[in-house]
Amino acid sequence: MNKQQEVYLIHFDMPYVAQSGKGKKTAQHYCGMSVRVDERMEDHRTGQGNPLMRAVSRKGIPWRPVWSIPGGHALELAFKRTHKLAKYCPVCNPSYQEYIDRLRYKLEHGDEKFL
Ligand SMILES: [Zn+2]
Repeated sequence: MNKQQEVYLIHFDMPYVAQSGKGKKTAQHYCGMSVRVDERMEDHRTGQGNPLMRAVSRKGIPWRPVWSIPGGHALELAFKRTHKLAKYCPVCNPSYQEYIDRLRYKLEHGDEKFL
């Protein structure tokens, strides 16, 4: 079986707030990529892998995966670079489907500017 890369989005039920040198940083989403999304979720749940997800787990913030779509590193980066992951989150944005549909259309038509 081919290992299909998938990009996934995780929504935190409470914002994660971190003190950094210049002030507060908050995050309420994490976007990642994996060929085994299910196993990756298990990593996140057990506090392995990504530092943000580790911190979120340590603080006991509930979170849930909201979607995964076929795509590789370029797509993951494109999402992260928007800094607007809430726009693509069905929990935060009821009209997210519109964005996801647009994204799918662009991907299918080889649009370099994904989002
Ligand atoms: Zn959200």
